[in-house]
Amino acid sequence: MNMDFERKLAIPMEVKEMFPITMKVSETVDKRRAEIISVFEGKDDRLLLIIGPCSADNEDSVLDYIGRLKRVSEKVSDKILIVPRIYTNKPRTTGAGYKGLLHQPNPNAKPDMFEGIIATRRLHMRAAEEFEFSSADEMLYPENHKYLDDLLGYVAVGARSVEDQQHRLTASGIEVPVGMKNPTSGVYSVMMNAISAAQSPHTFIYRGWQAHSHGNPYAHAILRGYSSKSGDSKVNYHYEDLIQLCEFYQKGEYKNPAVIVDTNHANSGKNPFEQPRIIKEVLHSARHNDDIKKLLKGFMVESYIEDGAQKIGEGVYGKSITDPCLGWEKTEKLILEIADLL
Ligand code: PEP
Ligand code: MN
Repeated sequence: MNMDFERKLAIPMEVKEMFPITMKVSETVDKRRAEIISVFEGKDDRLLLIIGPCSADNEDSVLDYIGRLKRVSEKVSDKILIVPRIYTNKPRTTGAGYKGLLHQPNPNAKPDMFEGIIATRRLHMRAAEEFEFSSADEMLYPENHKYLDDLLGYVAVGARSVEDQQHRLTASGIEVPVGMKNPTSGVYSVMMNAISAAQSPHTFIYRGWQAHSHGNPYAHAILRGYSSKSGDSKVNYHYEDLIQLCEFYQKGEYKNPAVIVDTNHANSGKNPFEQPRIIKEVLHSARHNDDIKKLLKGFMVESYIEDGAQKIGEGVYGKSITDPCLGWEKTEKLILEIADLL
């Protein structure tokens, strides 16, 4: 092969032995998972808000952000269930750019995957330990899921991965809700097929084992907008888009039909300041139509301490080094406004 095998890495069991979760963290994760699952089962009618930076690039600023989320979440906890977005792996459209904390625990230094595995686990663990959250991450590399499977409360499969067999089969063996994003082409059937596959049991190879999954009844859709043939951003959060998704769900046999609307990416055209308007529009559609109301479980929002984005190396604390985000002031205002609207 045309690559060097530089270093044999610790397997998930060894990393968990080095960094075990405490009884308190285990109880926090169980409690938060049960709450998140209740929302997907329709037993808890709170709105799920999966919210945080595009990439978790720095432990201090991400935990500072999560502390702020914790304080506001207490004010709205009767209406909104907050799940921090701690995204430690970034899919790159052309392969170039920051690949996330797992690859580069220090974005200004060379990749170090062992340090990255530890940094990722420590960040998710501290969010649970210090702020009683069980957080969300993207499953970009299915074989890495077991490094975090005792901590995560929510998992997303990204727009570039959703048609991939190994992602779908692994999602079928995950015990927390997995959101399947629409692909970058926007084709709904690709996302619906991913949901069907993830909801079914499978036998397949996983981390060198013949493994059997039991199916994930909480696999669901995430709408994130898409790209046209010429590469322009197109949205899929309007009333008609949501009705069309209801029709797709009605045509098949799905457990716990659900949608999360991702308000950034192609839906905002990467203008993060559009996110509050998009949420208000979707909530209006849900008020207007009962099928949409039943299907809509929440939103995914890209938000950080500072507005916008910066290049790696500019060094502004709490400012995204990947997609532009909504800053904290506007985020806090948005969360309180959503609670008022509900
Ligand atoms: C993201 O959530 O930051 C992301 C890369 O999403 P998508 O897969 O929708 O592009
Ligand atoms: Mn992003």
